[in-house]
Amino acid sequence: MLMHSRFAQTFAHRGASSKMMPPSVPSSRPAVPASNGVSKPDVSVRSYPHAGNQALVDRKAIGKAEFIRPEDGKAVMDDIDCIIFDCDGVLWRGFNTIPNSPETLKDLRARGKKLLFVTNNAGKSRKGYVKRFTSVGLDVSPDEIVPASFAAAAYLDSINFKATGKKALCIANSGTEEELQEHGIPYIGGEKWREPLLDSADKIKDLVIDENIGAVVVGFDGLLSYSRIVYASCCLRELPGCLFVVTNVDPNDNLGQPTKAPFNQQPLRRMMPVTGTMVQSIAHPTGKQPVIAGKGGSWLFPYLMAKYNLNPQRTAMVGDRLDTDIVLGAEGGLKTIMPLTGVTTLEELEDAKKVAGQPGALPIPDYVINTVATLAGLP
Ligand SMILES: [Mg+2]
Repeated sequence: MLMHSRFAQTFAHRGASSKMMPPSVPSSRPAVPASNGVSKPDVSVRSYPHAGNQALVDRKAIGKAEFIRPEDGKAVMDDIDCIIFDCDGVLWRGFNTIPNSPETLKDLRARGKKLLFVTNNAGKSRKGYVKRFTSVGLDVSPDEIVPASFAAAAYLDSINFKATGKKALCIANSGTEEELQEHGIPYIGGEKWREPLLDSADKIKDLVIDENIGAVVVGFDGLLSYSRIVYASCCLRELPGCLFVVTNVDPNDNLGQPTKAPFNQQPLRRMMPVTGTMVQSIAHPTGKQPVIAGKGGSWLFPYLMAKYNLNPQRTAMVGDRLDTDIVLGAEGGLKTIMPLTGVTTLEELEDAKKVAGQPGALPIPDYVINTVATLAGLP
């Protein structure tokens, strides 16, 4: 039987801080990732970034954030057949594998659980992710991995974009490009694109855009330039029916510890601006709202349910972000579980609980765990 939430009892009345850990956390455990001081997720009411999710409030998909100790972790999975894992901040953090995460996956497979890995990191394709998993000792197959790069291409496939005879403009790196290729979707842009230099009003005025572009696809693009923003904006404003599809709108990623440092080293207090930054730079000047293919959008969940024939009542979502992972799980009525090894901190969870249920507020997970290893009863 699951223990009653001492987490809730302890923190509900005095507010949490990064120093106030649930009582079961061993002293050797790294501190809960602290607020980075650079770009803390805003969990206040009216900050909910993804359109179309008002149903969350109506359905009262609000968990109790019950803290689960390792000795009670296996019981949480008893009535679950499939577990959807986020990756960054759950199975690894930066270059560091979360301790006992390989053993946890093996334990869950041995108990007959189906595992899926759904990440908003669009920097890699499914094939790229297999290498990433293997490099940290995690055994997965490509069909079990759903990165946002894949989701963007799969979305276009789901609406039969190829039948339009149009091509995509890819404002993203090679991960999204590879998935467009895998799905047979023609595109220009991508990592090696030599976009026209558009650094003046005259050059922009004289730009001739490719009129055969039918979709602007935005993912993580570390080479994003003003010229790319201009080109993509012109496509969205001037080409009739041009779609705006993005992998995700995550604003930041947690960088974890310094590169290849031990897991228990203090987290690096630095966040990395990611795809949401690129999306905003194009959405803002065009006034267009994108289709979000990855977590945080409304397309992915029904797609996953149908593709993998899942029963929502026997599926759990394990993720470290309220605004993407827990949203995905809550929208679908899944059991939601948040480890404290990623982006959302205890302090931020407490802030979110204060406004839970109000219009625009983020959902609250059913359970909170120190690390993913809790699900296998491991420390
Ligand atoms: Mg994550």
